[in-house]
Formats: sequence, C-alpha cells, structure tokens
Amino acid sequence: MSSSLAAAPRAASAPADPSRPELSPLVCRRCGARFEPRPVAVCEECIGPLEPAYAPERTLPTRWQIEARPRSIWRYREWLPILGEPVLSLDTGFTPLLDSPALARALGVRRALVKNDAVSHPTQSFKDRVVAVALNAAAGFGLETVGCASTGNLANAVAAQAARAGLAAWIFIPEDLELAKIVGTAVYGPRLVRVRGTYDDVNRLCVQVADRFGWGLVNLNLRSYYGEGSKTMAFEIAEQLGWRLPDAVIAPMAGGSLVTKLDKGFHELADAHLVDGAHPRMFGAQAAGCAPIVNLFERGGDAIEPVVPRTIARSIAIGNPADGAFAARAIRSSGGAAAAVTDEELVRGIRLLAETTGVFTETAGGVTVAAALKLAREGKLRAHDEVVLCITGNGLKTIDAVVPALPETPVISAKLREVAALVDA
Ligand SMILES: *Cc1c(COP(=O)(O)O)cnc(C)c1O
Ligand SMILES: [Zn+2]
Repeated sequence: MSSSLAAAPRAASAPADPSRPELSPLVCRRCGARFEPRPVAVCEECIGPLEPAYAPERTLPTRWQIEARPRSIWRYREWLPILGEPVLSLDTGFTPLLDSPALARALGVRRALVKNDAVSHPTQSFKDRVVAVALNAAAGFGLETVGCASTGNLANAVAAQAARAGLAAWIFIPEDLELAKIVGTAVYGPRLVRVRGTYDDVNRLCVQVADRFGWGLVNLNLRSYYGEGSKTMAFEIAEQLGWRLPDAVIAPMAGGSLVTKLDKGFHELADAHLVDGAHPRMFGAQAAGCAPIVNLFERGGDAIEPVVPRTIARSIAIGNPADGAFAARAIRSSGGAAAAVTDEELVRGIRLLAETTGVFTETAGGVTVAAALKLAREGKLRAHDEVVLCITGNGLKTIDAVVPALPETPVISAKLREVAALVDA
C-alpha cells in the first residue's frame, strides 16, 4: 500500500523494546505470499486479505496451563498475533456464558447459552476484544495515532482503549449514529468525525485516510491483527463448557469477521487437541434491511452484492461487508445457515432475551435472538441441540429501539391506596 506505512515497522535488527511487542508475520489467504509484520491488510501480489501466520512448531499450552492464567483474552495468546508480551488492554475478555432454560424453552432446543459480551470490558461490546489485539499491534509498530471507521461500538472501544494507552485517536462514524454511541465515544476525548453518508462511505474515506496519514486504523490497515481477537469468543465458549464444543453457535454479522473467526477459533482448538467432538454448526444473523451475507448464503457463489442499509440495527449495518464471502463459506462448510429478521422481529428479540435471561442487549443482539427463533421454527436448530447465542452489545446504547415497544409506566402519588389500586387492577 503506501510508502509512509512501510517505514513504520521496527527494523528487524533494532534492540527489543518492551513497550513494542513483537508481532506475527502475515500470509495471504488467497495466494499464500508471506510478509514481515506490517500495518497493511492487503496482499501486494493479489490484493487478497492478509492474516497472521503462526509457527506450527510453537509450543501450545495445556488446558490446565490456560486455566491457571489471568481471565482475559490473553490466556489464549498462542493463538493471537502478538508474539511478545502484550502491553495494552490486558483486562479485556472472559465474559460470562449464561445458561438460559427459559430461552431454550422459547427456542425449543435442549439447551441455550448466552455468551454475554453486553458486559464486555471496558466498553460493553465484543469490539473490545478486537481493539485490544489491534492496539497491541499498533504498539508493536510504534504507531502513535490509531483510529477506525465505525458503526458505533468500534468507535467506543477504540476511543476508550486509546485514551487509556495514551494514544491519539481519529474516529470516523456515519453522521446519524445513536446518541449513546456518539457520547460513549466523545467522552474519551478522541478526534471524533461524523461523516455524511453510510458506513460504507465512511469506510471508503478511511482507506484513503490510512494511506495518507500513516495511522493505525484498527479495522483497515491493522485488520489482519484486529480480526484475530474475535477468535477469543470461541475459545472462551469451549473452555466455559468444560472444554467441549456446542452443537450450534449463532452470531450477528456486520463485516462478517466475527462469524468467520469464531469458526476458525473452534477449528484451532480441535487442531490443538484441546477439545474433541463435532465442529459446531455456525449460524449468521443479519437485519433484513441490510442482509448482503444472508443473500450470498442463499444465492450461492462467492461475490457479495452490496446493498444500501435500511435498518435500526445500525451496529451491523454494513452494506459491503469485507469478510462477507468468508462468512458465507464458513457457515456453509459447517453445515449451518444464515437468517435475516425484520426490525419488528429484532425488537421482540431484545425483549425476549431480557425477559427470559435478564440480559439487555442492543439491536444486534435482538437480531441474533430473533434469527435463532426463526432458524428454530425452520428446523435448522433442532430439539436436541445445545445452542450458544453470541450477544455482542449492550441495550443501554440503543434504548430508542425499544422505547415504543414497552408498556406505559403508571405514575402515582406516594399513597398506599394508589398502589393497592394497581395491585387489584
Ligand atoms: C461489529 C459488531 C458485530 C459484527 O461484527 P463483524 O465482525 O463486522 O461481522 C456484531 N455485533 C455488534 C454489536 C457489533 O458492534
Ligand atoms: Zn496474495
């Protein structure tokens, strides 16, 4: 890509600096070309996507060794692209896996578990995982300014984690995001820029920005490192099940990275003999108003047809998903399926999760729950299945979505008889 970026990585002969962790080399997913660590996510030979290349001979930990480590994403560091000691965001990860019998009954499956990244640390969405990895990559490259193109949650995670790390941050979002997502970014003091247009317009702009200014944009030029953070959700699910794999996993899809990396993570655990049993069937969920990956899954083939998003599920409203083809392929090869749900269905999904499980999720989580209901009705989730729903974000960030759906709240004087009237009504 750009010459300004090529100068950023540390020369191989420079003395080790503990604040700059060593990073994985990269390999092209399409043509197999290998590259030294670099803040570039696209192959120079074939413009295929780059991903970290892990040394097959590296020593892997046992289950017992992993369990003895701190409860964060870094307990799986042998499968993450930060080779030296991570220096930033050491506390992200290890969110609860909740058993929800009432949700299982609603779905008609044997067991339903909620992987609850609504309480992810520090910014209440699964984007904390990917940003934790990307900021350590930025540190490894000695980059002092980071940023992102975001639908909201990524903006929150980059702003918070960059503030804590003392890095400058430039964050680009669509103009009309939810207020909570704008405030939940601006409060950390980044340079926050609202762009007229859709996320896809913001993304196109940021590709040029990365090239021009040499910043580490976590989901663009640092994407090869960033994406690997999503695998930790799969690792945690397996460990929290007692080193077992569930029958089915359902996740929301925006760029398609999470579902692709969950699939990769489960394969890596099996390859390392840390789990046995069948690979889970992978299911992907989108809002009907922005469902290019579901369309690709249903149509077949490998080419995403971009759409213009029209849904209240803004956090997953990406019309031209970077990893859409990989996501569709992972879903197909695992024997899973994809489903799209309407905005009304996703609001019912938010309420169902809250009422059955005590978890308040944002619109993307509502999409996941509603898609699970639809897949169960279609017989794609089966009565004997143990199903994990990946709940990726927090409902307090998108309260406007549910306000019209909730019953009116009575207002009374502080008088016992007014309570009695309500009880008797
Ligand atoms: C970004 C996001 C996703 C999906 O992420 P991709 O990896 O881009 O598919 C899902 N849920 C929430 C809440 C998100 O913010
Ligand atoms: Zn290539």
